Amino acid sequence: MLTVETAGAWLSLFIEKLEKNEKYLNMLDESIGDGDHGANMLRGAKDLKAKLAEGLQAGVSDLFKLAGMSFVQKTGGAAGLLYGQIFLHMSEAFQEDNDLMDSLTSGLEGIQTFGPTELKEKTLVDVWIPVMEDIRNKRLTLEKINEYVTSTKDFQAKKGRAAYVSEQLNGHIDPGAASCGYFFEAMLEAGVY
Ligand code: ADP
Ligand code: MG
Ligand code: MG
Repeated sequence: MLTVETAGAWLSLFIEKLEKNEKYLNMLDESIGDGDHGANMLRGAKDLKAKLAEGLQAGVSDLFKLAGMSFVQKTGGAAGLLYGQIFLHMSEAFQEDNDLMDSLTSGLEGIQTFGPTELKEKTLVDVWIPVMEDIRNKRLTLEKINEYVTSTKDFQAKKGRAAYVSEQLNGHIDPGAASCGYFFEAMLEAGVY
């Protein structure tokens, strides 16, 4: 169930996973980009952690707004803009109601503010869209999330920095898809869904 407590746990678990996997995310980005995805994500995560430590916010929407501001202001690169827009869009949706599907639909719109990203273009959309489908059908598991992250190995990058080195990319997981996998693992573990 989505409450201010479970939403807070969702964000905290996401932060923990980003902390634990900073080097791994950098390593994934070394293969297809500039090697900074873990470090980028960690800057936003640290800022958000400090804000959360000051006390839980009044509502779910406030929590996601804090997250959006942290990623917009502290995380560099494409990921800062992407996760910033994801969280700010989700925050707006949570102002209407606490409906997870509505908020994830808004989050996807946040990603799409950078242009239309299709499936199989080796981005976090390759995790976001099938996860939404599984939530709708009440069949999301950790294994499925992992499967969607891993599936990006076989895709050719069409968006972002990785698109410029596309011929070398097969066999490598997309770093943004991997961090997005942590986001949804955290959601499951927090009992939001
Ligand atoms: P940068 O490429 O600026 O160094 P990061 O390394 O932090 O930024 O983030 C790279 C990730 O951003 C990629 O792995 C990919 O998942 C995601 N990405 C980049 N451009 C787009 C886009 N237009 N739409 C969706 N995701 C994107
Ligand atoms: Mg990078
Ligand atoms: Mg960069």
